Amino acid sequence: MELLFVGTGVGVPNRERIGSSLYIKINHISLLIDLAPGVLRRLEELNIRYQDIDYFLITHFHVDHILELPLLLFVAKYPLDPRQKAWQFCGPRGIDKLFDKLLYAYGKQIAPDVPINFIEMPPNTLYLPGYAVTAFRTVHTRESHGYKIEGRGKKIVYSGDTEFSISLIEVSESADILILEASFPFDTTGHMTPERAAELAREAHAKRLILTHMYPLKFDVAIERAKQIFPNIEVAYDGLKIVL
Ligand SMILES: [Zn+2]
Ligand SMILES: [Zn+2]
Repeated sequence: MELLFVGTGVGVPNRERIGSSLYIKINHISLLIDLAPGVLRRLEELNIRYQDIDYFLITHFHVDHILELPLLLFVAKYPLDPRQKAWQFCGPRGIDKLFDKLLYAYGKQIAPDVPINFIEMPPNTLYLPGYAVTAFRTVHTRESHGYKIEGRGKKIVYSGDTEFSISLIEVSESADILILEASFPFDTTGHMTPERAAELAREAHAKRLILTHMYPLKFDVAIERAKQIFPNIEVAYDGLKIVL
């Protein structure tokens, strides 16, 4: 399995980070979690063909996570390189309605030329060869959730946007790779700090913690404090690749 951090920031412009998006390759199947503005360009920089991605997973409907969706549907119709595969969109309840609204706004220019399927997660599970991808609720918006990938003795948890919660500790128990949002270096509602993420990783007995979804702010002090709580922390950057 391969994890590639395509974006590790937020909606606020930042020279180093676009909004958060994670590309995952499992055998020959590829997934992209969230469609942050700028993700298509970043995929190009990272030599990933957007037309080949099999599944698109959405964590929630904030614009810094879905704004590239209409552009993706638009460029997929590019006559010199049209999308051949059916669309598979996984996400919270309402993902199909979101698509209907976009279609209403943009019309024919984004109407797909290939079949489009929506998989509501939860409750559904995405079964891939040797792996299962499940969704779990998070404390952020009414529909927000994160994703858990388990298989071949490995467990990866991606929090999406969230506050610290007991249920997230439970979901993250013994994760090999725990990817948590750490939006701000100071406490706020709806998000976590590096210290809170570190506490969560320690409580969950995670093996490795990777921080993402970071605002363009000074994090040095917060990261140092977080490392005293849970030493095995890495701060993700756009282009970080992990093979496991
Ligand atoms: Zn959000
Ligand atoms: Zn966000």
